[in-house]
Amino acid sequence: MEIDFDGSFPADEKTDLKRAARDVVRVVKDLIPGLPPMGDRGFRIYRDSASPRVLWPSPAQNQYVIGLNLGSGRRYFQLAYQLGHELGHVMMDPSRTNGAIETLATALSLQVLLNMRERWIATPPHPHWRENASSFKDYYEETDKTMLSSLSRDIQTAVHHGRWDMVSAELRRCRGQLNQQPCDRPLNHLGARYLLSQKMPWKQLNGIASKAGPLSTDPSMFLKMFNSEWTRFPIGCYRFGALIYDGAGQ
Ligand SMILES: [Zn+2]
Repeated sequence: MEIDFDGSFPADEKTDLKRAARDVVRVVKDLIPGLPPMGDRGFRIYRDSASPRVLWPSPAQNQYVIGLNLGSGRRYFQLAYQLGHELGHVMMDPSRTNGAIETLATALSLQVLLNMRERWIATPPHPHWRENASSFKDYYEETDKTMLSSLSRDIQTAVHHGRWDMVSAELRRCRGQLNQQPCDRPLNHLGARYLLSQKMPWKQLNGIASKAGPLSTDPSMFLKMFNSEWTRFPIGCYRFGALIYDGAGQ
């Protein structure tokens, strides 16, 4: 599989980043097997000072173009987290998003951090990279702390004590907010933690955003359509749609 890091990355880091990115792609493909809805293409990764993103490919493009906002140096844990999220969009359908899809991509990125740790303990790309395995879990915990810190004290306590009924109630309370602002990262993270507390049907995420209504060029339309169409989601994700959109997850 072809992965290019373009000239926006330092030449001496590109080979290593590519080795790590290849593992991230494998971890994602193990969780969500099959062809992505827009087909198998290579990846071109560029450094973007804005939020990470995957550009919607034209039919003629043979690569998915993905922007990552990485700090300097070989920050494999940050690469795994951001690329994991964007590959989630590639597998779900990069042309559409909304609050539920962003939450699912966030859940995937957290799962990727955990699986990368396991992978690099067992089979790191180089034997001496095994020492980086713990950094994936450290970053998971750091991100968790940062994201939860902007939520209420009660919700932070509920997460720490595994009171998922309270978390679920909070997600339902905030669903309007998430509809308005699909990339509300603390809320995406809270939803992701809720999902990871359950058995996630990762395989069923393949193509799921294709079912989420019209194209993302018209946010108000796709949110409206998503609200009316989520019942077409596969059963495992139906549960999540029900939680966020219908208050039926109690
Ligand atoms: Zn996203």
